[in-house]
Amino acid sequence: MSIVAVFNQKGGVGKTTTALNLTAALRLGGREPRAIDLDPQAQFTAIARIDTHSGDDTLLSLFQRNRPLRDLLRPSSCGFPLIPSHTELAKVDVLFGKGFNVVNRLHTALRGEGFVTHPNEPLVMDCSPMIGVLSLNAIFACDGLIVPISADHLSLQGAQHIEKTLRALEPVLKRRVKRRYLLTRFDRRRRMSWDVLEQAQARFGEDVCHTCIAENVSLAESPAVNQTVFDYAPDSRGARDYAALLQELLESGFIE
Ligand code: ADP
Ligand code: MG
Repeated sequence: MSIVAVFNQKGGVGKTTTALNLTAALRLGGREPRAIDLDPQAQFTAIARIDTHSGDDTLLSLFQRNRPLRDLLRPSSCGFPLIPSHTELAKVDVLFGKGFNVVNRLHTALRGEGFVTHPNEPLVMDCSPMIGVLSLNAIFACDGLIVPISADHLSLQGAQHIEKTLRALEPVLKRRVKRRYLLTRFDRRRRMSWDVLEQAQARFGEDVCHTCIAENVSLAESPAVNQTVFDYAPDSRGARDYAALLQELLESGFIE
């Protein structure tokens, strides 16, 4: 199965950019990907031009009234269906506690509905920068976790926290969570970018992606016109980098 979560507890590191453009790359590669916006800030939802009216349009309704995931999928301007978010999705973090059944709820629903049973229909989840119930659901449900690190030191610290969190969770999950640390906003001319890459490789070894996503203006501009980088600027560096990332994830077996 191919369920990918994108998470770092630091904001502004490229989670949404990565979730959006990795899903788009999967679609260009001939698959039929779906996505879930798990961030109450709902930026993915806004980029994909989906109007929501309340938390009932989001995963909140899975938790509140066991609504099937298939009913929540909506067509988007990005060419793939998305389960949208809304500010009220934040209620999940306050209403339901952190018991095992709560943090395993999405996993149970995905399996129960046979939502992702074929590699042709991968799922990409965009998380909030908070290790609460929603992000734990994404970690428990995923086959693989991508941790974007914008090439700066605070972002690397965020990644180290995640590594610790994963090591604490793994005995509960009874498996190692496959993960890839991905350098984003990488500027070859900046010493700091290379320093952060070197430190990431020293700490996380083979779990660091060989592909780095360069700082690229098309990646920054495309969300404002509700497009993926592949639609907005197919020949840009950003489009090439996300295509190369997908290629690497497929070749290494991280995505089936
Ligand atoms: P997060 O979801 O982790 O908060 P975003 O993906 O929203 O981060 O990225 C934060 C900001 O940085 C956004 O304005 C986004 O457009 C911009 N951005 C992300 N990746 C790149 C990149 N590689 N080059 C240029 N700008 C980027
Ligand atoms: Mg985001």
